[in-house]
Amino acid sequence: MQLPPFNEYLGTQVELREAGEARVVLDLKPHHLNMRGVAHGGVISALLDTALGGAVIAAIPKEWWCATIHLSINYLDGPRAGRLVAEGRVTRRGARVAFAAGEVKDESGRLLATAEGSWHLWTRKPGNSPAPRKPYVQVEGTGETVEVGKILAIGRNYADHVAEMNAPKAGPPVLFFKPATAVIHHGDSIVLPKGAGEVHHEVELVVVIGERGKAIQEVDALNHVLGYAVGLDMTLRDIQDEAKKKGTPWSLAKGFDTSAPVSRVMLREQVGDGSGLTIRLTINGKERQASNTDHMMRSVAELIAFASKTVTLERGDLLFTGTPAGVGPVNPGDSLTAEIEKIGSLTVSVRAEE
Ligand code: MG
Repeated sequence: MQLPPFNEYLGTQVELREAGEARVVLDLKPHHLNMRGVAHGGVISALLDTALGGAVIAAIPKEWWCATIHLSINYLDGPRAGRLVAEGRVTRRGARVAFAAGEVKDESGRLLATAEGSWHLWTRKPGNSPAPRKPYVQVEGTGETVEVGKILAIGRNYADHVAEMNAPKAGPPVLFFKPATAVIHHGDSIVLPKGAGEVHHEVELVVVIGERGKAIQEVDALNHVLGYAVGLDMTLRDIQDEAKKKGTPWSLAKGFDTSAPVSRVMLREQVGDGSGLTIRLTINGKERQASNTDHMMRSVAELIAFASKTVTLERGDLLFTGTPAGVGPVNPGDSLTAEIEKIGSLTVSVRAEE
């Protein structure tokens, strides 16, 4: 059954809407009445919502939008017939919220109900611009979301990858950062920046920090771990090679938007210390990287101890622990699936920047 828009069906008529005030009238019809012949409470509340909301609309610029947050009504008397008049007025307005109050009377001026409420204000239609969202990861099972703080990443932590990159084997681990805004999730797309050259995949075990700490001892390190995720340390290889030659930071090569796909987080209790886990990456179903976290040159605990010597770790920080051999370029249209035993899998697609 096709019904007309609600206000039309209800029969409300807006008589006035200006300068933060509105007046709405309704002529009671049989379909407004309940079994006892009194106007239904929903009719009164809809009338008041229209009047108070109308007052808010009359108090904000034309292109703005509003929506009811709450509406509280005191029902005083029940009308059976005749014309109802609802009036609303804005009592207070902030940048993001407006408050309004009002009442409904019958033709003789008898007070039937009073109301007060609050309204969200938007400077443009909601949904027209992407809502600002904080980067997050989600815990498997509970669905809890944890806001991502900073992303630390370790380079050169698998001997076979060090060899394929012709990188020095000795010395302390390489530590670099990615911005939290680089995080994307299962089902999202890696966007290849225009003119940035080759973009390489690096599948990695990601440690999610659960408890803040500085100068964490190796023996205590796992107590600071909330869980683990499967991650991809996407890398602009040409730009990184250039930076290596010049001795400049890797920030652009490592920190571009969408450069940190991360799976759901499996709690530490389910996974352990991060060792002995098969780690694998396929592109369009073909295996490209396959190893075991036992081949990491430094364990999760060692890396936490190393990083926290200089950087305070906080809940929600991510630590990428390095990639095994087999890194290589990705292309628009590719589908990447990264898997780590006991943790889960992560599938993302690849597209070119528009
Ligand atoms: Mg890496």
